[in-house]
Amino acid sequence: MKAGLDDFDPEGRRVLVRVDFNVPLLEDGRIRDDARIRACLPTIQELRSRSARVILATHLGRPKGKPVESLSTRPLAIRLSELLGMNVAWCPECVGPVAQTAVQGLADGGVLLLENLRFHPEEEANDPGFATQLASLADLYVNDAFGTAHRAHASTEGVAHLLPAYAGRLMERELAALSGILESPARPLVAIMGGSKLSTKLGVIDHLLPRVQQLLLGGGMAATFLVAEGVSVGRSLVEPDFVARAAEILGRAPTLGAEVYLPTDVVVAAGPQSTAPEARSCPVGEVGGEEMILDVGPATAQRWSELVRRSGTVVWNGPLGVYENPAFAGATRLVATAIGESTAVSVTGGGDLQAALESLGLVSKFTHVSTGGGATLEFLEGRELPGVAALRERVAVP
Ligand code: ADP
Ligand code: MG
Repeated sequence: MKAGLDDFDPEGRRVLVRVDFNVPLLEDGRIRDDARIRACLPTIQELRSRSARVILATHLGRPKGKPVESLSTRPLAIRLSELLGMNVAWCPECVGPVAQTAVQGLADGGVLLLENLRFHPEEEANDPGFATQLASLADLYVNDAFGTAHRAHASTEGVAHLLPAYAGRLMERELAALSGILESPARPLVAIMGGSKLSTKLGVIDHLLPRVQQLLLGGGMAATFLVAEGVSVGRSLVEPDFVARAAEILGRAPTLGAEVYLPTDVVVAAGPQSTAPEARSCPVGEVGGEEMILDVGPATAQRWSELVRRSGTVVWNGPLGVYENPAFAGATRLVATAIGESTAVSVTGGGDLQAALESLGLVSKFTHVSTGGGATLEFLEGRELPGVAALRERVAVP
């Protein structure tokens, strides 16, 4: 278990907090969605109320190692000021004398946001000198950037070896929810995998397969599994190079005691832009040569809803259909609603599934909606995240 905010006294100390404020921006530079900022509020508010001097550092977008005006963190400081109801200071540098001076100006309980870390190429290179400069700003380090923890960068990994390093509240919640799935889930454990490509989810399927009682396979990846079973899928998204791996997974599952479910009916149309009247549902064996599978069918979605109602834990990654088009969001909605109504512990990951649940207004019905995309996948693959590995272990109290 990682050490966290309960394990040190921040009063009067300078605390460098790595946050993931990498919010989506509109064309005109305004913030489209501030969920990532709000997700870090518990850590920031707690440190403030315990009289820390809070120094926030984040990346924003892909400036590729040089200053890009449209990717400045300044608008984030303004939004954070609104959310906290206080003035958040902003510094046009993240290291060096300007940043040092800004930190010196912080009072106990004050908050300062540094400029975009990725304006410096040394950040992503995990340059030791850059990590040293970051560390020199503070007495303590807190990592609340779960979504960036799979990257060994100066602000996520390097600096954690130079200061006493702790997990923030968001990091703590993410680790507890995700490790609960892998280590001690209430059973039956049902895994639902969707999204576009099987190739990006193989590591997760391999790691979950020995742990689950049921594995439900939807989304674009289902077509590759159906081909492995000899089913004709028309013009559906298939990854030919991974058909053999799909067959191997289907063959291995029973030896591990896992039941695998593929769709028995599907929603098909000419393409992802088709309208609802142009779409039809059919048994999985009846997909036309010119048709594409764009969603799991209603009978399958019903059956899967029953399975999640009887489960103890559900872990779900990737939408079941092309949810961006309401014509193909039906199965995702039905299964998500069933999970919301069930007593199962429910944990989801993946940016697209999160977006789908948000547009359906169902986020609050889940036990935990992970803020990480790649980080969540790597965690569920059983890999150690460098940004987590570098944090202190909690010392057991005898
Ligand atoms: P996540 O971000 O939740 O991990 P992915 O990025 O793997 O999910 O996949 C999301 C994408 O998968 C969405 O853009 C969605 O349109 C697409 N998708 C889902 N089902 C299908 C399908 N049957 N055919 C093609 N694309 C699909
Ligand atoms: Mg995605």
